Amino acid sequence: MIVENIKQVEENIKQACEKVGRNPEEVTLIAVSKTKPYTVIEEALPSGILDYGENKVQELCDKFDILPKNIRWHMIGHLQRNKVKYLVGKVQLIHSVDSLRLAEQIEKEFAKADEIANVLIEVNMAQEESKFGITSQETEELIREIAKLPHVRIQGLMTIAPFTDNPETNRVYFKNMKKLSVDINNKNIDNVSMNVLSMGMTGDYQAAVEEGATMVRVGTGIFGERNYNI
Ligand SMILES: *Cc1c(COP(=O)(O)O)cnc(C)c1O
Repeated sequence: MIVENIKQVEENIKQACEKVGRNPEEVTLIAVSKTKPYTVIEEALPSGILDYGENKVQELCDKFDILPKNIRWHMIGHLQRNKVKYLVGKVQLIHSVDSLRLAEQIEKEFAKADEIANVLIEVNMAQEESKFGITSQETEELIREIAKLPHVRIQGLMTIAPFTDNPETNRVYFKNMKKLSVDINNKNIDNVSMNVLSMGMTGDYQAAVEEGATMVRVGTGIFGERNYNI
């Protein structure tokens, strides 16, 4: 089941790329395994997918300890400063940096281990009150501050679009996000790259890919509905 779902998502990504003349190799599929037991990842591994997304530090660390070490773990959820230390040596990319204070904590903990943290800046494109992330207007200023931290490397931007039944309503946010990343890239800020655009989830990843996503985060479409009561 899980492997078939992944094949289907990969096929959809390929078609979205073809539609706009992109190379599917530019897009990384992150399988979002949050709330699911580690065994679902074991089921998924034969598909060849090695990128997995979690939104809680504890859960990421538990799965890290059990599963093969070639898995690339993505922290996609809101990150508390007191939890940063647990991610050192475990995380491929932190998608959810939205304050200088958090970035400074990442700097401190990764410097201790002489490691570089790869991060994305989370932008709340739709300005939903319920969501974390900064506004697009604040993004350049925050990036300029974080760029000064030697153990933190900004690789791009991440957004969580509104929950919707109609992916077309989110297209404008993906378009604006791409535009924002191009604008920032054109400023040539030292220590900052805009290679990654993490956007698109189960309901809207094809639209996100058409608008330039380089990482899509798909949970339900691969592992099925989540049960938050267990
Ligand atoms: C849960 C989650 C996803 C996956 O959502 P689905 O709709 O299940 O694909 C993607 N990104 C973030 C940040 C999430 O928290």
